[in-house]
Amino acid sequence: MTKKVKIGNVVIGGGERIKIQSMTKSLTQDKEETLKQIKNLERAGCDICRIAIPDEESARLIKYYKERTTLPIVADIHFDYRLAILSIKEGADKIRINPGNISKDKIKEIIKCAKDYGIPIRIGVNAGSLEKDILEKYGRPTPDALFESIKRNVEFFLENDFDNLVLSAKSSNVLDTIKVYRLIHKHFDFPLHIGVTEAGPSYIGVTKSAIGISSLLMEGIGDTIRVSLSAPPEEEVYVAKEILKAVSLLKGPEIISCPMCGRAEFDVERVAKELMERLINFEKPVKIAIMGCVVNGPGEAKEADVGVTGSRGVGVIFKHGKIIKRVREKELLDELIKIICEEL
Ligand code: SF4
Repeated sequence: MTKKVKIGNVVIGGGERIKIQSMTKSLTQDKEETLKQIKNLERAGCDICRIAIPDEESARLIKYYKERTTLPIVADIHFDYRLAILSIKEGADKIRINPGNISKDKIKEIIKCAKDYGIPIRIGVNAGSLEKDILEKYGRPTPDALFESIKRNVEFFLENDFDNLVLSAKSSNVLDTIKVYRLIHKHFDFPLHIGVTEAGPSYIGVTKSAIGISSLLMEGIGDTIRVSLSAPPEEEVYVAKEILKAVSLLKGPEIISCPMCGRAEFDVERVAKELMERLINFEKPVKIAIMGCVVNGPGEAKEADVGVTGSRGVGVIFKHGKIIKRVREKELLDELIKIICEEL
């Protein structure tokens, strides 16, 4: 089992619930947009929020954001060790550094400051920015190359008497990601932050992330997860939750829906999307079906605890395949949620 590490008021590792992390995508200096994204993450059920710190102004805004959210704030630092130190002093709950782009002397200063303030550091190795000598040795960022970088850096932190660590080694290649995390898990007991980096847009990113993350979770590897998507941050959280539910690490409703065909008289896609948004923080493990036609829908979705379909403005609610109610279509989801809350 991995060690426990505290990020603000959130504990990761040591068998705790797997935490969901995401990252704001606005310019960190843009207070209005960044705060909006943080609030959206909070509402979506995110556990930990990371923000990029590209300059001093961004580091100085950490306090501003922390005062306005319940989420722990992780400062993401590249290149400039002074920004890491400033972020810690401004209240970051954890910092993530990419050791491939900060010199060892400077990392020592970051370690000293993190020790003084009692906050953890994530060593975030990335296939795109491996140390030069390691890259030359392996020719490309193979799992072994990524692992060598992690090993070298962990040893350096331990030599400097710092073990409040979280590790990650991300690649945009799913199989490489799985292999390198297996290696890290075998050799170290620090909590692991897992994900496939630069996974891609919409369904490409969702597919790669789901395969990479769920494969590792099923082997008991991973303490925090991030789904990297070229999409609004809250969508990363929605996908992360679905991955956790799919591998039984999170309780919640399971929404199934038919693919629709020439018999469909009901807008399955729109209703499913609205229902997903309304149930995002529900914990009841109920199976809900959204089907395209009244003739076949209820029967095809017998396995579901409850379901909906409809035709010509009339919404139909069924339980285990049997129709129990007809309502006006615009009242359908209110009625469905009432049944889920009160009767199931
Ligand atoms: Fe087609 Fe109806 Fe089956 Fe959906 S439930 S796939 S609309 S037959």
